Amino acid sequence: MFLEIDHLTMQFGGLIAVNDVSINIEKGEIHGLIGPNGSGKTTIFNVLSGYYKPSGGKIIFEGRQISGLSAHQITAAGFARTFQNMRLFKSMTVMENLLVAMGYRAKVGLWQEIFNPVAVHREEQRFTEKALELLDLLEVAEFANELAISLPYGHQRRVEIARAMATDPKVILLDEPAAGLNEIETEELRKILTNIHERGITILLVEHDIKLVMEACEIITVLDYGKKIAEGTAVAIRKDPVVIEAYLGKEGNQ
Ligand code: ADP
Ligand code: MG
Repeated sequence: MFLEIDHLTMQFGGLIAVNDVSINIEKGEIHGLIGPNGSGKTTIFNVLSGYYKPSGGKIIFEGRQISGLSAHQITAAGFARTFQNMRLFKSMTVMENLLVAMGYRAKVGLWQEIFNPVAVHREEQRFTEKALELLDLLEVAEFANELAISLPYGHQRRVEIARAMATDPKVILLDEPAAGLNEIETEELRKILTNIHERGITILLVEHDIKLVMEACEIITVLDYGKKIAEGTAVAIRKDPVVIEAYLGKEGNQ
């Protein structure tokens, strides 16, 4: 198995946010993770990306246990994510946001810049080209030199995905990427997800927009109160009475 969430539990004091959840994710899959507010979706992402150490269970990625590793080590293993509340560097340009994610500054020392400016320039060009290619994939290349904060919200969300891609991830975790987007922007996002998918990157998608999840995901896991209550294709999930009761039935109350 490519990515295995194995009996994962995450407890905060008396609250069990994730309760004995197991999910198997195949390489290259677009896997949806849905459930009402507070059902543990973001917490699973936080454990996957190394922000929390699980209270129980483990995560195995490409045969190696990664739960317990630091966020930095998990990034190095091939994980990238976006956040429910966007975390772009707003006072930087779009391009700078990507260059920082690629670790560009960290790789070029001051001495190198003084004594080997040609090599530094070449290095910068290589990073810039790669960033532009990703911005192009996300259809925001024309804004490369604009401040991130000056972009419309929907475009900022795409820049955030481009930035996550900049670390060359094998797995990308998207936490409600359609939040705040209108219908047209959401449809554009769906196409972008397909483009990312076609690059062979595995996508885990947490999303409230059920239509988007149903259209984009090959398989969907449903959570309720921290527990996995269902898993299957969009067609199967839509018909599952347990899901209708727990999730779709509550839609109006959220
Ligand atoms: P979702 O993303 O599905 O809306 P979350 O994973 O954010 O849900 O939250 C699941 C539950 O865990 C909620 O009850 C939330 O309040 C709680 N929770 C999440 N993170 C923490 C934390 N760091 N400390 C305490 N409780 C938390
Ligand atoms: Mg959440």
